[in-house]
Amino acid sequence: MSQPTPDGPVLVAGGAGYIGSHTVRLLQEREIELSVLDNLSTGHREAVSAPLDVVDLGDREALAEVFERRRPAAVIHFAAKCYVGESVEDPSKYYRENVTYTWNLLEAMRAADCRDIVFSSTCATYGEPVQVPMTEDHPQVPINPYGHTKLHMEHMMQDYAHAYGMRAAALRYFNAAGAASDGTIGEVHAPETHLIPLVLQVALGKREEILMFGGDYDTPDGTCIRDYIHVDDLADAHLRALATLQAGTTTLACNLGTGTGFSVQEVVEAARRVTGREIPARLVDRRPGDPAQLVSGGSRARELLAWEPKRTGLDEILGDAWRFHTAHPDGY
Ligand code: UDP
Repeated sequence: MSQPTPDGPVLVAGGAGYIGSHTVRLLQEREIELSVLDNLSTGHREAVSAPLDVVDLGDREALAEVFERRRPAAVIHFAAKCYVGESVEDPSKYYRENVTYTWNLLEAMRAADCRDIVFSSTCATYGEPVQVPMTEDHPQVPINPYGHTKLHMEHMMQDYAHAYGMRAAALRYFNAAGAASDGTIGEVHAPETHLIPLVLQVALGKREEILMFGGDYDTPDGTCIRDYIHVDDLADAHLRALATLQAGTTTLACNLGTGTGFSVQEVVEAARRVTGREIPARLVDRRPGDPAQLVSGGSRARELLAWEPKRTGLDEILGDAWRFHTAHPDGY
């Protein structure tokens, strides 16, 4: 498969976060000029070895100054809030930081004649599945503020692309997982809510047990099924999407998943295999708002981006995450 090489310089907003830092690493490996813009609210300085501007997307003057100084040819935009539960409790934060800050970013791009943007969307824009696997033409009816704000971001970028000659790619992630295979960067959230890092914290002895949310779903083992996609495969898709825009595509939206789902029970069992640790687990009530299954369908990313996920095995994904967790038991 050919390796697309987008033109830089690229400005990576949110490049100190989980998926952003892996994308920065890949841009560096491909020798594409870049800089990172991050307010470090949830990102980690240690995850980035590229030029970094610690700037908040709420600060329009500082943003304009960064565009003036860095003169990016394109933006990859990861800077957003991403917790469903928090978005329900504090939607204001999500509308401000996901919607308004993205508007600030698009305005800064327009003012600087920077036309191409690739950004993190999510399968949460689809809402409750009416069919599984979910293809890109699945109805987009989000069921929480997080999903609403991400859908607003998609619409905003499509509208800007059509009106102002910009080009935008929305990449709808399923469950990002794994870590750089050398164990140097990985997933660190505080507080942690995601299944895989939590299971590995149990393996490390930092938590007593993993709670499995719901054993009465309509799935083969009764636990929820998700499509876990390796973070390095996500990173690769961003470079392909940017190269596709730069080759003349105005807008595109595609799912990024493997098309294969694994249950919570299967993840816990794989983690026991990979770590060789016991990992006590307990079934508890469902977590509100969790659909039984979220699995990516269709072949749009393959067709449009020639993208094929490479690190698709659950043991491979967990093995990479475990290497990072053992090297960084307390985070960065
Ligand atoms: N999950 C779980 N225990 C946990 C955290 C998550 O059983 O401590 C389940 C959750 O209900 C979902 C799956 O693991 O079915 C993946 O959840 P995660 O929060 O990692 O990602 P999400 O699918 O919410 O984006």
